[in-house]
Amino acid sequence: MSAEVINGLEVATKLRAEMKEKVAELKKEGIIPHLTVILVGDDPASKSYVSGKEKAAKEIGISSEVIRMNEKTTEQQLLDKIAELNENENVHGILVQLPLPSHINEDKVIEAIDPTKDVDGFHPVNVGKMMLGQETFLPCTPHGIIKLLEAKKIDLEGKHAVIIGRSNIVGKPMGQLLLNLNATVTYCHSRTKNLQEMTNLADILIVAVGKAHFINDSHVKDGAVVIDVGVNRIEDGTLTGDVNFDLVKEKASFITPVPRGVGPMTITMLMDNTIKAAMRLS
Ligand code: NAP
Repeated sequence: MSAEVINGLEVATKLRAEMKEKVAELKKEGIIPHLTVILVGDDPASKSYVSGKEKAAKEIGISSEVIRMNEKTTEQQLLDKIAELNENENVHGILVQLPLPSHINEDKVIEAIDPTKDVDGFHPVNVGKMMLGQETFLPCTPHGIIKLLEAKKIDLEGKHAVIIGRSNIVGKPMGQLLLNLNATVTYCHSRTKNLQEMTNLADILIVAVGKAHFINDSHVKDGAVVIDVGVNRIEDGTLTGDVNFDLVKEKASFITPVPRGVGPMTITMLMDNTIKAAMRLS
């Protein structure tokens, strides 16, 4: 059996077309969704993520700006900038690109963002609402994965989802969203014993580790759905996932590629959150 490859770019393109229409409607009511991204320092990967966000915003008709602050920016200067944006009625969404330089406390910065403008969904208030199953800004990567599963009509109810990775931005919220949708969830991480035994139980395997080709066919049950979140640059300069795609695709029922899998969905869900913020739905 060879898995159906889930084309994240295709799903994202369709969702973005719908968002473009929504934004056009809002404009008729005089609302132009506006996203402000703060980029501190010049990490090349962060710069590239930020330009992807600007491009997507433009495509959908969302107004966006990037505030670039230098590497030596103090924590207080960044907090002051966030306070100013919190007060600005024309700014609907605020995103501080992570990681921040080591002298700045990320938790403090995330907590300084007005939760009603926290389009990354990282503020403790929004994380709490997500846990309670309340309407809120959902973290973009796990939300995007749910949308991919929905697009392929993959039933989650009662399914065993195994997640490898427990970061605050991917693994933990991923498990919570799947639980909210009635999956049975197991989290694995670097201290998990007998990882392969765990992964072989998965109907749905989500891999967010950050190690190229960490998962191969021996980790995967026949017919499992495999979602590869990892983005790893290998020696030849190309991007690859955490899953050995060629091996696993022969065993899985569905699989996401890297690139063009989860990545385009993350940015798309950020745009969705920005539109929600402009509509004050949260
Ligand atoms: P992270 O914060 O580094 O977390 C990695 C997780 O993997 C940790 O929970 C860690 O366990 C676990 N882990 C590490 N080694 C392991 C092992 N040998 N066995 C089992 N678990 C292990 O990374 P992240 O931010 O969640 O990102 C994960 C990957 O997804 C990265 O490649 C990142 O670039 C990518 N990513 C992609 C998108 C996208 O839109 N496509 C978005 C975000 C992230 P411990 O907690 O025990 O250390």
